[in-house]
Amino acid sequence: MKIALRDDDTSYFTSPERLRSIYRDVWNRIPVCLATVPFTVGYRRPGIPEEHWHSAEAFALERNPALVDELRRLLAERRITIALHGYTHQDYATGYEFQAAPDPSRRVTEGRAYLEHVLGTNIGVFVPPHNALSKRGLAAVSAAGLNLLGSFLSFRPSMRPWELRTPLNYWRVSRFRASTNRARHDRFVYPFVLRYRRHAEFACHSLIPGTTLDELVRGFEEARSFGGDFCLATHYWEIDDVMYRTLVDFLDYAAGVPGVRFVAADELFA
Ligand SMILES: [Zn+2]
Repeated sequence: MKIALRDDDTSYFTSPERLRSIYRDVWNRIPVCLATVPFTVGYRRPGIPEEHWHSAEAFALERNPALVDELRRLLAERRITIALHGYTHQDYATGYEFQAAPDPSRRVTEGRAYLEHVLGTNIGVFVPPHNALSKRGLAAVSAAGLNLLGSFLSFRPSMRPWELRTPLNYWRVSRFRASTNRARHDRFVYPFVLRYRRHAEFACHSLIPGTTLDELVRGFEEARSFGGDFCLATHYWEIDDVMYRTLVDFLDYAAGVPGVRFVAADELFA
């Protein structure tokens, strides 16, 4: 069973000290997939200075050279991998970036090329800002051949670009929901990779304020009972002592289970 860890929102606004203070003992055990924003635009959240919440200025990652140096070093040490997390991560009046931006294809292509160049790494995974994707956003990611790490994306064929595998994968997910006695609107995480013509998708469990070890273990044990894999997604900027403890306790729990392997997120799709 593969276990991966994803952390969202590394960008120009990220301090390398903050990442290090959280992950220094974690990324020795499991590589952290940092879903990184290449040209971030500020928005209202802790860790982004208030003057940039509405400034609409885009900050290229390399304007934070201390962060770039640290990411390159951590990549060389195999403590992190990089995924593409949108282009600007900006919110529009009509939706999140990959629901509402007029040019999702350009954003995927240019964002990926930029991060690959600045960080000297290959990028094969896309994480949608706010886990939100329109049909067009999904088509752009798929056309680029990037695999998708999401949480609670819809599998309903009407929400997706048409291809033969769309109804087949929907049927797989529906069968899983039925076999776990869930109702139509109950939330769950399908524990297997879904393969489409040009990309694959895998869903993550969330570690957010209020998430308990019990919930994570339940999700993990369900995935394990079906022979599936498990990815945990969190945000470094909201990890406090309680969330940190939950993360480490979960890793300790998983590490004690025979057959569990901690892997880089890209390996989920192997
Ligand atoms: Zn994000």
